[in-house]
Amino acid sequence: MSASIAKNIEPIREHRANVLYQHGTLALLVPGLLEGTTTMGELLTHGDTGIGTGEGLDGEIIVLDGRPWRVGRSGKVEAVPDDFTMPFATMHQAAFQYQCERADIGLEELNRRIVEANGRANTFFAVIVRGTFSFMKTRAVIKQQAPYPTLEEVADRQAIFLGQDVRGTMLGYFSPIMFHGAAVAGFHEHFLADDHSIGGHVLDAVLERGEIHTQVFDTLVQHLPVDNPEYRNHDFSHDNIAEAISNAEGDRRGDE
Ligand SMILES: [Zn+2]
Repeated sequence: MSASIAKNIEPIREHRANVLYQHGTLALLVPGLLEGTTTMGELLTHGDTGIGTGEGLDGEIIVLDGRPWRVGRSGKVEAVPDDFTMPFATMHQAAFQYQCERADIGLEELNRRIVEANGRANTFFAVIVRGTFSFMKTRAVIKQQAPYPTLEEVADRQAIFLGQDVRGTMLGYFSPIMFHGAAVAGFHEHFLADDHSIGGHVLDAVLERGEIHTQVFDTLVQHLPVDNPEYRNHDFSHDNIAEAISNAEGDRRGDE
């Protein structure tokens, strides 16, 4: 454990690696604004690393080294074409810095220690955990059709996948509590096994052994689908956004 190294992790300005780009917000998914309002091709102009979901919550997306992958209800990992449309995604240009190595640790404790080690509870940052996971539980939401249901109605329409002793990469984004709504406060993490045997939105995991790298952002670019008619005309005043996001994203809150 090298807390002293982690505390020195600062934003890197070369190649705009200090910028986190987000298209859409989680709040927009709450009332069911699930139309794809950007494309994978466009997103890749904002970075080589990211996570997101497709139109109608069509699967869980992870972008690693400029290559986008999608896990849908079948659990199969598929390459994502440039014209694939998405209502929500987070992207950045990778410039990760080594934080520490960890062994035999559950997801909740791992996440807590990552925040603690780099002292960045009020900062957006990305984390990559590469290693062997003795346990991995992921989900993929099942694609919905228009007229779209609310995020809470979709909560039980998901496929769950379980893995044991899988090598792979977990990519997560940490958002400060005051941004709950624009993103999930705390971590939002997706996983991809090296052999593509399992992937998706991480619900639970145990890291057997792995290296942790983090990347800190000092700038958030929040891109909104301003010309999408549903978004323009929607009245958000009756959507209980913070609560709906907490319920839909499980109990992994950043303030724990
Ligand atoms: Zn997700």
